[in-house]
Amino acid sequence: MSPAQLRGSSATWQVEFVKSCSALSDLPGEGPSEVALLGRSNVGKSSLLNSLAGRGKLARTSRTPGRTRLLNLFDVNQGQLLLVDCPGYGYAKAGRSLREQWTGLVEQYLSSRRPQLLLALLLVDGCIEPQALDLEAAVWLRAHAIPLGIVATKWDRLSGNQRPLALRRFEAAFAAPVLGYSSVSHAGRDELRKRLLSRA
Ligand code: GDP
Repeated sequence: MSPAQLRGSSATWQVEFVKSCSALSDLPGEGPSEVALLGRSNVGKSSLLNSLAGRGKLARTSRTPGRTRLLNLFDVNQGQLLLVDCPGYGYAKAGRSLREQWTGLVEQYLSSRRPQLLLALLLVDGCIEPQALDLEAAVWLRAHAIPLGIVATKWDRLSGNQRPLALRRFEAAFAAPVLGYSSVSHAGRDELRKRLLSRA
């Protein structure tokens, strides 16, 4: 296999924690394309990151106290792509709008028009109905002209019959293609790795 083929292969996913950023000025001035990972807390973001990396404990770094409100950067394949793990939303008091929760670093990052920002990957819980905050996030991202990818997590918890129905429900709600993903069985992993690298 040629090096180019290898780089594009879903088998070559080497992910390393780079650093945590508490301000936009901590982000690299220039560098690889960036994919922002977004979702409500508990959606399965850390699990997906570990699954993508093929390593059990990678995302623990970004979950240590003090880091959960920061942007945590993960390098893919030594400079091919940068995953930007953003703080989860939805943990605060019910009824608070996304705008109230997304102020600060995440909003600054997403609205900074960084040329590197390639895609916002919005994770939604595949086992529950589309949530108002997630729909609000999709609207916000579109309004800011940020390309949006949607992944439905915890796909293994749905039966074979439920999956196509859930997919249709999510795709109708978000008016976009949705990829089912399981961090337990790794269903969807090859597809997601391929899609992310093909954009880098
Ligand atoms: P985060 O807060 O978004 O980082 O969410 P976590 O990755 O910590 O996951 C929240 C909970 O959902 C944990 O109990 C995980 O074990 C569980 N979980 C996450 N992804 C999956 C999945 O794909 N399948 C199943 N069955 N459980 C999952």
